[in-house]
Amino acid sequence: MNTVLENLKRYQDLLLRIRQLERELTTYPESVERRGRELKQHQIAVARAEEQLAENSGQKDRKEEYLILCKDNLEKFEQDLMEVTNQKEYSAVLKEIDNTKREIQGTEAVIITLMESIKQLETDYEQLNASSEQLENAYNEAVAGFEDTNREKIKEKEKLEKEKRRLEKSIPASHMRKFNQIAAKRSGIAVSNVSEECCTACNMKIRPQMMNNMQKNPDKLFICDNCQRILVFIEPDGDDS
Ligand SMILES: [Zn+2]
Repeated sequence: MNTVLENLKRYQDLLLRIRQLERELTTYPESVERRGRELKQHQIAVARAEEQLAENSGQKDRKEEYLILCKDNLEKFEQDLMEVTNQKEYSAVLKEIDNTKREIQGTEAVIITLMESIKQLETDYEQLNASSEQLENAYNEAVAGFEDTNREKIKEKEKLEKEKRRLEKSIPASHMRKFNQIAAKRSGIAVSNVSEECCTACNMKIRPQMMNNMQKNPDKLFICDNCQRILVFIEPDGDDS
């Protein structure tokens, strides 16, 4: 049969472990976070490649439309050339023809450059897309692994919460109030073990008289003079069940 103080100590251990489990259940480990970041960066690169590809394709379409216009104009100027009536008109039309031909050449060169860059972008894009799946799988696997581990932790947490509720009923309300008051001020550590006549939380030696009293009154609350925590003395030769 545990003393009330032993139950209080156990209660504290449960609270701390439950708190730790809650933290672990809601925080992705770095291995998952890293894969998430890799995937996100990759998705940004894919989106950027898509954008660049769309932009170059649009440019190429516009240049091709312009090329058709230039060729139509050339045809028109060549027609005009046959209808000129004097040297002045002839020179003017010839100049237009030269200019248009130059414009056609220039536009064709730009289109070829754009086509080459589109081809390269398409290759890059395909490669990016191929590794997309890999990265996505790696991330999903990491998340699934995390959730697998969590299942164990959820089970443990449920078990501990059950035990916690049971313990709460066995601890007197006045002890519980004192415990909560101290725990709130001392990051959850309200109960300290006594070992070799010292408080294990602050290492202060316990007065011999207090040691005596503690042994005589195992269910009474004794507070460490130094750190103000509840002292729990578990006899070294007692059975610790
Ligand atoms: Zn202390």
